[in-house]
Amino acid sequence: MTAEYSLCEKLHSKVGKLPSYQFSSLPSDLPSDGVYFCFEKKETGHGGLRITRIGSHTGKGNLAARLREHITVNKDRSIFRKHIGRALLNCDRDPFLADWDIDLTTRTARDKHAHRIDFEKQNAVELRVSDYLRTAFTFAILPMTDCAQALNFEAAAIGSVSNCPRCKASSTWLGLSSPNSHIASSGLWQIRGLWGAGLTEGQLSAL
Ligand SMILES: [Zn+2]
Repeated sequence: MTAEYSLCEKLHSKVGKLPSYQFSSLPSDLPSDGVYFCFEKKETGHGGLRITRIGSHTGKGNLAARLREHITVNKDRSIFRKHIGRALLNCDRDPFLADWDIDLTTRTARDKHAHRIDFEKQNAVELRVSDYLRTAFTFAILPMTDCAQALNFEAAAIGSVSNCPRCKASSTWLGLSSPNSHIASSGLWQIRGLWGAGLTEGQLSAL
């Protein structure tokens, strides 16, 4: 058993015992700070569902707000939404993918691009992303009051899961349709921090 496998298995075991939430019904009493772990229907590993995204947040007390951004219809506020939309569009070979990639957050960007964006189409994709988030995912939260510690744990957990030889995407995983090959090869809905240093025994036993 490799070290990556062993530590990733322990992470899955610990996170799998935490309360499970759905994006379709976020409770009002979510932990205010910590690291979240998403699981996805039909994606398995370590004897259960495998982790398909790991995230945290910036700013004290902002975890619930960050999670709500993932189900709010605005792809430019959530890279998670953006990744899912890219995969859906790429799977359909839909040329709207190029427009979906444009970040319209700033006034400058809107002035430059908004006139040619089909917002009806964009909204339809946003609704598909929301539907996928609500129906395919569950997630767990590892509460951590120290935000710096949470960010360190998030980075190490991404390292462990992306390096784990047993956490691989199923042949039907939507992420395989992502135009970004790192999503398909890591099995995670993220690009930053993949294949970095993983968790230590000390980090896991301290939980
Ligand atoms: Zn694993």
